[in-house]
Amino acid sequence: MAESKWVEPDLSFVKQLKTLGGDTLKKCYQCATCSVVCPISPDEKPFPRKEMIAAQWGLKDRLVGNLDVWLCHQCQDCSTYCPRGARPGDVLNAVRSYSIAEYAWPSWLGKLVPDGRFWWLLLAIPVAIFLLLLSAIGHLHIPEGEIEFANFFPTLWVDIVFVPLATFWIPLTFGIGIYRFMNDIHKKAVADGKAKRKDLNIPDFLKSILCTLPTILRHSKFSQCTENKDRYVPHILVLFSFVGLFVVTNCFFVALYILQVPGPYSQMNPIKILANASAIALLVGAIWMISNRLKDRGENVGKGSYFDWSLLVLVLGLVVTGGLSELTRLAHLPALAYPMYFAHLVFVFCLFAYLPFSKLAHLVYRTLAMAYSRYSEREPCE
Ligand code: SF4
Ligand code: SF4
Repeated sequence: MAESKWVEPDLSFVKQLKTLGGDTLKKCYQCATCSVVCPISPDEKPFPRKEMIAAQWGLKDRLVGNLDVWLCHQCQDCSTYCPRGARPGDVLNAVRSYSIAEYAWPSWLGKLVPDGRFWWLLLAIPVAIFLLLLSAIGHLHIPEGEIEFANFFPTLWVDIVFVPLATFWIPLTFGIGIYRFMNDIHKKAVADGKAKRKDLNIPDFLKSILCTLPTILRHSKFSQCTENKDRYVPHILVLFSFVGLFVVTNCFFVALYILQVPGPYSQMNPIKILANASAIALLVGAIWMISNRLKDRGENVGKGSYFDWSLLVLVLGLVVTGGLSELTRLAHLPALAYPMYFAHLVFVFCLFAYLPFSKLAHLVYRTLAMAYSRYSEREPCE
Protein backbone atom coordinates (compact mmCIF):
# COMPACT_ATOMS: atom_id res chain seq x y z
CA MET A 1 0.00 0.00 0.00
CA ALA A 2 1.29 3.46 -0.86
CA GLU A 3 2.59 5.45 2.09
CA SER A 4 0.18 8.22 3.13
CA LYS A 5 1.51 11.73 3.74
CA TRP A 6 0.11 14.54 5.89
CA VAL A 7 -0.06 17.88 4.15
CA GLU A 8 -0.27 20.97 6.32
CA PRO A 9 -1.38 23.93 4.20
CA ASP A 10 -0.36 27.38 5.40
CA LEU A 11 -3.35 29.53 4.48
CA SER A 12 -1.72 32.79 5.53
CA PHE A 13 1.10 31.98 3.08
CA VAL A 14 -1.46 31.58 0.26
CA LYS A 15 -3.02 34.92 1.22
CA GLN A 16 0.34 36.65 1.19
CA LEU A 17 1.22 35.22 -2.21
CA LYS A 18 -2.04 36.67 -3.49
CA THR A 19 -1.22 40.14 -2.15
CA LEU A 20 2.27 39.91 -3.66
CA GLY A 21 0.86 39.48 -7.18
CA GLY A 22 0.05 35.75 -7.26
CA ASP A 23 -3.74 36.24 -7.02
CA THR A 24 -4.38 33.89 -9.97
CA LEU A 25 -2.76 30.82 -8.40
CA LYS A 26 -6.03 29.01 -7.63
CA LYS A 27 -6.91 28.82 -11.34
CA CYS A 28 -4.25 26.20 -12.10
CA TYR A 29 -5.62 22.76 -13.04
CA GLN A 30 -2.21 21.09 -13.42
CA CYS A 31 -2.13 20.58 -17.19
CA ALA A 32 1.70 21.13 -17.21
CA THR A 33 1.69 23.31 -20.33
CA CYS A 34 3.77 25.84 -18.38
CA SER A 35 6.57 23.35 -17.64
CA VAL A 36 6.63 22.33 -21.31
CA VAL A 37 6.86 25.86 -22.73
CA CYS A 38 9.27 27.31 -20.16
CA PRO A 39 12.52 27.90 -22.09
CA ILE A 40 14.64 27.74 -18.93
CA SER A 41 13.19 24.78 -17.10
CA PRO A 42 15.44 21.68 -17.06
CA ASP A 43 14.19 18.30 -18.37
CA GLU A 44 14.62 16.71 -14.97
CA LYS A 45 12.12 17.91 -12.33
CA PRO A 46 10.90 20.79 -14.54
CA PHE A 47 9.12 23.90 -13.22
CA PRO A 48 6.71 25.71 -12.70
CA ARG A 49 3.81 23.18 -12.62
CA LYS A 50 4.94 21.54 -9.38
CA GLU A 51 5.45 24.97 -7.80
CA MET A 52 1.88 25.91 -8.78
CA ILE A 53 0.37 23.02 -6.85
CA ALA A 54 2.62 23.77 -3.87
CA ALA A 55 1.38 27.39 -3.98
CA GLN A 56 -2.27 26.31 -4.16
CA TRP A 57 -1.82 24.05 -1.17
CA GLY A 58 0.08 26.66 0.80
CA LEU A 59 3.16 24.44 1.06
CA LYS A 60 5.50 27.20 2.11
CA ASP A 61 8.37 24.81 2.87
CA ARG A 62 8.31 23.51 -0.69
CA LEU A 63 8.58 27.00 -2.15
CA VAL A 64 10.76 29.12 0.13
CA GLY A 65 14.29 27.85 -0.50
CA ASN A 66 13.25 26.17 -3.76
CA LEU A 67 16.11 26.65 -6.22
CA ASP A 68 13.83 26.59 -9.28
CA VAL A 69 11.80 29.56 -8.06
CA TRP A 70 14.97 31.63 -8.41
CA LEU A 71 16.00 30.21 -11.77
CA CYS A 72 12.78 31.58 -13.27
CA HIS A 73 13.42 34.91 -15.07
CA GLN A 74 9.76 35.96 -15.19
CA CYS A 75 9.74 35.90 -18.97
CA GLN A 76 6.05 34.96 -18.80
CA ASP A 77 6.11 32.46 -21.68
CA CYS A 78 4.30 30.10 -19.30
CA SER A 79 1.67 32.72 -18.43
CA THR A 80 1.03 33.40 -22.11
CA TYR A 81 0.34 29.74 -22.88
CA CYS A 82 -1.45 28.79 -19.64
CA PRO A 83 -4.98 27.81 -20.72
CA ARG A 84 -6.44 28.83 -17.37
CA GLY A 85 -4.87 32.27 -16.93
CA ALA A 86 -3.17 31.07 -13.73
CA ARG A 87 -0.10 33.20 -14.56
CA PRO A 88 2.62 30.96 -13.11
CA GLY A 89 5.28 33.60 -13.88
CA ASP A 90 3.52 36.02 -11.51
CA VAL A 91 3.08 33.31 -8.85
CA LEU A 92 6.81 32.51 -8.86
CA ASN A 93 7.57 36.23 -8.68
CA ALA A 94 5.29 36.44 -5.61
CA VAL A 95 7.17 33.52 -4.00
CA ARG A 96 10.47 35.32 -4.60
CA SER A 97 9.11 38.53 -3.04
CA TYR A 98 7.90 36.54 -0.03
CA SER A 99 11.27 34.77 0.26
CA ILE A 100 13.22 38.06 0.30
CA ALA A 101 11.24 39.06 3.44
CA GLU A 102 11.70 35.56 4.96
CA TYR A 103 15.51 35.73 4.72
CA ALA A 104 15.72 39.38 5.76
CA TRP A 105 17.46 40.55 8.88
CA PRO A 106 16.22 42.46 10.84
CA SER A 107 12.95 40.71 10.09
CA TRP A 108 10.75 43.71 11.03
CA LEU A 109 12.36 45.70 8.20
CA GLY A 110 11.85 42.75 5.88
CA LYS A 111 8.12 43.00 6.65
CA LEU A 112 7.95 46.80 6.52
CA VAL A 113 9.55 47.35 3.09
CA PRO A 114 7.08 45.23 1.05
CA ASP A 115 4.07 46.58 2.98
CA GLY A 116 2.45 49.39 0.99
CA ARG A 117 0.98 50.95 4.16
CA PHE A 118 4.40 52.07 5.38
CA TRP A 119 6.00 53.79 2.36
CA TRP A 120 5.63 57.16 4.11
CA LEU A 121 7.52 55.87 7.17
CA LEU A 122 10.40 54.57 5.05
CA LEU A 123 10.68 57.98 3.38
CA ALA A 124 10.24 59.86 6.67
CA ILE A 125 13.31 58.15 8.21
CA PRO A 126 15.92 59.73 5.86
CA VAL A 127 14.00 63.04 5.74
CA ALA A 128 14.13 63.26 9.54
CA ILE A 129 17.82 62.24 9.68
CA PHE A 130 18.83 64.83 7.06
CA LEU A 131 16.73 67.63 8.58
CA LEU A 132 18.23 66.94 12.00
CA LEU A 133 21.77 66.92 10.57
CA LEU A 134 21.24 70.13 8.60
CA SER A 135 19.77 71.88 11.58
CA ALA A 136 22.60 70.62 13.84
CA ILE A 137 25.26 72.12 11.53
CA GLY A 138 23.25 75.32 10.92
CA HIS A 139 22.62 74.64 7.19
CA LEU A 140 18.84 74.49 7.21
CA HIS A 141 18.48 77.25 4.61
CA ILE A 142 19.25 77.94 0.94
CA PRO A 143 22.89 79.13 0.74
CA GLU A 144 23.73 82.42 -0.98
CA GLY A 145 26.00 82.73 -4.06
CA GLU A 146 27.17 80.21 -6.66
CA ILE A 147 25.33 76.90 -6.35
CA GLU A 148 27.52 74.27 -4.76
CA PHE A 149 25.78 71.37 -3.10
CA ALA A 150 28.62 70.97 -0.60
CA ASN A 151 27.76 74.44 0.75
CA PHE A 152 24.29 73.14 1.61
CA PHE A 153 25.06 69.58 2.69
CA PRO A 154 28.82 69.28 3.34
CA THR A 155 30.37 66.26 1.62
CA LEU A 156 31.82 65.05 4.91
CA TRP A 157 28.30 64.80 6.40
CA VAL A 158 26.95 63.08 3.31
CA ASP A 159 29.72 60.51 3.70
CA ILE A 160 29.13 60.16 7.45
CA VAL A 161 25.63 58.93 6.53
CA PHE A 162 26.37 56.92 3.41
CA VAL A 163 29.76 55.30 4.05
CA PRO A 164 28.50 53.30 7.09
CA LEU A 165 25.41 52.35 5.08
CA ALA A 166 27.56 51.01 2.24
CA THR A 167 30.37 49.46 4.26
CA PHE A 168 28.56 48.20 7.35
CA TRP A 169 24.76 48.12 7.02
CA ILE A 170 24.48 46.51 3.57
CA PRO A 171 27.21 43.87 4.12
CA LEU A 172 25.80 42.96 7.55
CA THR A 173 22.10 42.73 6.68
CA PHE A 174 22.61 41.28 3.22
CA GLY A 175 25.29 38.92 4.52
CA ILE A 176 22.86 37.42 7.03
CA GLY A 177 20.15 37.12 4.37
CA ILE A 178 22.57 35.45 1.95
CA TYR A 179 23.77 33.03 4.61
CA ARG A 180 20.18 31.97 5.36
CA PHE A 181 19.33 31.75 1.66
CA MET A 182 22.32 29.61 0.72
CA ASN A 183 21.80 27.19 3.59
CA ASP A 184 18.15 26.80 2.71
CA ILE A 185 18.72 26.42 -1.04
CA HIS A 186 21.43 23.81 -0.51
CA LYS A 187 19.48 21.81 2.10
CA LYS A 188 16.36 21.67 -0.07
CA ALA A 189 18.19 20.96 -3.33
CA VAL A 190 19.92 17.96 -1.71
CA ALA A 191 16.65 16.75 -0.13
CA ASP A 192 14.75 17.12 -3.46
CA GLY A 193 17.45 15.27 -5.43
CA LYS A 194 18.29 18.38 -7.52
CA ALA A 195 21.92 18.54 -6.38
CA LYS A 196 24.51 16.00 -7.44
CA ARG A 197 26.96 17.44 -4.91
CA LYS A 198 25.97 16.98 -1.28
CA ASP A 199 28.61 19.32 0.19
CA LEU A 200 28.83 23.09 -0.03
CA ASN A 201 32.45 23.87 -0.84
CA ILE A 202 33.03 27.63 -0.81
CA PRO A 203 36.02 27.84 -3.25
CA ASP A 204 34.16 25.67 -5.78
CA PHE A 205 31.02 27.72 -5.29
CA LEU A 206 32.97 30.93 -5.96
CA LYS A 207 34.18 29.37 -9.23
CA SER A 208 30.55 28.69 -10.11
CA ILE A 209 29.75 32.36 -9.52
CA LEU A 210 32.52 33.29 -11.97
CA CYS A 211 31.17 30.93 -14.59
CA THR A 212 27.66 32.39 -14.10
CA LEU A 213 28.68 36.03 -14.57
CA PRO A 214 28.91 35.93 -18.41
CA THR A 215 25.35 34.54 -18.56
CA ILE A 216 24.16 37.40 -16.36
CA LEU A 217 26.10 40.14 -18.13
CA ARG A 218 24.89 38.91 -21.53
CA HIS A 219 21.38 38.32 -20.16
CA SER A 220 21.42 35.04 -22.09
CA LYS A 221 18.47 33.61 -20.16
CA PHE A 222 16.28 36.59 -21.09
CA SER A 223 17.13 36.13 -24.73
CA GLN A 224 15.61 32.63 -24.56
CA CYS A 225 12.18 34.20 -23.96
CA THR A 226 9.87 33.92 -26.91
CA GLU A 227 6.89 36.01 -25.81
CA ASN A 228 8.48 38.98 -24.05
CA LYS A 229 11.79 39.41 -25.80
CA ASP A 230 11.65 43.18 -25.35
CA ARG A 231 12.13 42.81 -21.58
CA TYR A 232 15.77 42.08 -22.40
CA VAL A 233 16.71 45.65 -23.38
CA PRO A 234 15.30 47.64 -20.39
CA HIS A 235 16.57 45.02 -17.97
CA ILE A 236 20.11 45.18 -19.37
CA LEU A 237 19.99 49.00 -19.43
CA VAL A 238 19.09 49.10 -15.73
CA LEU A 239 21.73 46.50 -14.83
CA PHE A 240 24.57 48.30 -16.62
CA SER A 241 23.49 51.72 -15.40
CA PHE A 242 23.76 50.48 -11.80
CA VAL A 243 27.21 49.08 -12.59
CA GLY A 244 28.16 52.47 -14.15
CA LEU A 245 26.87 54.44 -11.14
CA PHE A 246 28.73 52.11 -8.78
CA VAL A 247 31.99 52.79 -10.67
CA VAL A 248 31.27 56.55 -10.69
CA THR A 249 30.59 56.69 -6.92
CA ASN A 250 33.86 54.89 -6.18
CA CYS A 251 35.86 57.09 -8.58
CA PHE A 252 34.48 60.28 -6.99
CA PHE A 253 35.26 58.90 -3.55
CA VAL A 254 38.89 58.28 -4.59
CA ALA A 255 39.09 61.71 -6.28
CA LEU A 256 37.82 63.45 -3.17
CA TYR A 257 39.57 61.64 -0.35
CA ILE A 258 42.72 60.18 -1.92
CA LEU A 259 43.54 62.58 -4.77
CA GLN A 260 42.04 65.54 -2.84
CA VAL A 261 40.23 66.95 -5.91
CA PRO A 262 36.93 68.49 -4.75
CA GLY A 263 33.99 69.01 -7.17
CA PRO A 264 32.06 70.24 -8.97
CA TYR A 265 33.67 68.46 -11.93
CA SER A 266 33.56 69.50 -15.60
CA GLN A 267 30.82 67.97 -17.75
CA MET A 268 33.60 66.73 -20.07
CA ASN A 269 35.30 64.76 -17.29
CA PRO A 270 35.16 61.06 -18.40
CA ILE A 271 33.71 59.98 -15.04
CA LYS A 272 31.08 62.70 -15.30
CA ILE A 273 30.27 61.48 -18.83
CA LEU A 274 29.91 57.94 -17.46
CA ALA A 275 27.68 59.28 -14.66
CA ASN A 276 25.41 61.11 -17.12
CA ALA A 277 25.29 58.16 -19.55
CA SER A 278 24.41 55.78 -16.69
CA ALA A 279 21.69 58.15 -15.45
CA ILE A 280 20.16 58.38 -18.95
CA ALA A 281 20.31 54.57 -19.33
CA LEU A 282 18.62 54.18 -15.95
CA LEU A 283 15.90 56.66 -16.87
CA VAL A 284 15.19 54.99 -20.22
CA GLY A 285 15.26 51.50 -18.65
CA ALA A 286 12.93 52.47 -15.80
CA ILE A 287 10.41 54.23 -18.09
CA TRP A 288 10.50 51.26 -20.49
CA MET A 289 9.83 48.83 -17.64
CA ILE A 290 6.98 50.97 -16.31
CA SER A 291 5.39 51.27 -19.75
CA ASN A 292 5.69 47.46 -20.23
CA ARG A 293 3.83 46.94 -16.97
CA LEU A 294 1.13 49.47 -17.90
CA LYS A 295 0.71 48.12 -21.44
CA ASP A 296 -2.32 45.82 -21.68
CA ARG A 297 -2.57 46.12 -17.88
CA GLY A 298 0.53 43.99 -17.56
CA GLU A 299 -1.00 41.13 -19.57
CA ASN A 300 2.43 40.28 -21.01
CA VAL A 301 4.98 41.06 -18.33
CA GLY A 302 2.69 40.87 -15.29
CA LYS A 303 0.98 43.83 -13.65
CA GLY A 304 3.25 43.62 -10.59
CA SER A 305 2.59 44.14 -6.91
CA TYR A 306 3.44 47.07 -4.65
CA PHE A 307 6.81 45.35 -4.11
CA ASP A 308 7.63 45.49 -7.84
CA TRP A 309 6.29 49.00 -8.32
CA SER A 310 8.06 50.46 -5.29
CA LEU A 311 11.45 49.62 -6.86
CA LEU A 312 10.48 51.17 -10.20
CA VAL A 313 9.26 54.34 -8.46
CA LEU A 314 12.44 54.47 -6.37
CA VAL A 315 14.65 54.14 -9.45
CA LEU A 316 12.65 56.78 -11.29
CA GLY A 317 12.74 59.12 -8.27
CA LEU A 318 16.48 58.59 -7.95
CA VAL A 319 17.28 59.44 -11.55
CA VAL A 320 14.75 62.29 -11.94
CA THR A 321 15.87 64.10 -8.75
CA GLY A 322 19.53 63.50 -9.67
CA GLY A 323 19.03 64.88 -13.19
CA LEU A 324 16.97 67.85 -12.03
CA SER A 325 19.53 68.70 -9.33
CA GLU A 326 22.17 68.95 -12.03
CA LEU A 327 20.00 70.86 -14.52
CA THR A 328 18.70 73.38 -11.96
CA ARG A 329 22.27 73.89 -10.73
CA LEU A 330 23.46 74.61 -14.27
CA ALA A 331 20.46 76.94 -14.76
CA HIS A 332 21.39 78.83 -11.55
CA LEU A 333 18.08 78.15 -9.79
CA PRO A 334 19.09 77.71 -6.13
CA ALA A 335 15.51 77.63 -4.79
CA LEU A 336 14.93 74.50 -6.91
CA ALA A 337 18.43 72.99 -7.02
CA TYR A 338 18.97 72.60 -3.27
CA PRO A 339 15.55 71.03 -2.45
CA MET A 340 16.00 68.73 -5.47
CA TYR A 341 19.40 67.67 -4.15
CA PHE A 342 17.83 67.04 -0.75
CA ALA A 343 15.17 64.83 -2.37
CA HIS A 344 17.90 63.03 -4.33
CA LEU A 345 19.77 62.22 -1.12
CA VAL A 346 16.54 60.85 0.37
CA PHE A 347 16.12 58.49 -2.60
CA VAL A 348 19.78 57.42 -2.45
CA PHE A 349 19.36 56.68 1.26
CA CYS A 350 16.27 54.55 0.53
CA LEU A 351 18.18 52.63 -2.15
CA PHE A 352 21.11 51.88 0.17
CA ALA A 353 19.27 51.31 3.45
CA TYR A 354 16.44 49.16 2.06
CA LEU A 355 18.42 47.35 -0.67
CA PRO A 356 18.53 43.91 1.04
CA PHE A 357 14.76 44.07 1.68
CA SER A 358 13.63 45.45 -1.67
CA LYS A 359 12.94 43.86 -5.02
CA LEU A 360 16.51 44.80 -6.00
CA ALA A 361 17.74 42.00 -3.70
CA HIS A 362 16.58 39.53 -6.36
CA LEU A 363 19.66 40.50 -8.40
CA VAL A 364 21.89 38.96 -5.74
CA TYR A 365 19.67 36.02 -4.80
CA ARG A 366 19.09 35.01 -8.41
CA THR A 367 22.82 35.26 -9.18
CA LEU A 368 23.55 32.94 -6.24
CA ALA A 369 20.80 30.52 -7.28
CA MET A 370 22.12 30.39 -10.85
CA ALA A 371 25.63 29.80 -9.53
CA TYR A 372 24.33 27.09 -7.20
CA SER A 373 22.54 25.43 -10.11
CA ARG A 374 25.90 25.12 -11.87
CA TYR A 375 27.74 24.16 -8.71
CA SER A 376 25.27 21.36 -8.00
CA GLU A 377 25.47 20.25 -11.66
CA ARG A 378 21.78 20.92 -12.28
CA GLU A 379 22.93 22.84 -15.36
CA PRO A 380 26.34 23.11 -17.03
CA CYS A 381 28.72 26.05 -16.93
CA GLU A 382 28.70 27.88 -20.27
S1 SF4 B 1 -0.27 27.03 -14.39
FE1 SF4 B 1 -1.56 26.89 -16.20
S2 SF4 B 1 -0.25 25.84 -17.68
FE2 SF4 B 1 0.67 25.47 -15.66
S3 SF4 B 1 -0.21 23.57 -14.97
FE3 SF4 B 1 -1.49 25.20 -14.17
S4 SF4 B 1 -3.13 25.44 -15.66
FE4 SF4 B 1 -1.51 24.29 -16.68
S1 SF4 C 1 8.14 33.01 -16.23
FE1 SF4 C 1 9.45 32.23 -17.87
S2 SF4 C 1 11.22 31.38 -16.79
FE2 SF4 C 1 9.60 31.62 -15.29
S3 SF4 C 1 8.57 29.67 -15.24
FE3 SF4 C 1 7.46 30.94 -16.67
S4 SF4 C 1 8.33 30.47 -18.67
FE4 SF4 C 1 9.76 29.71 -17.11
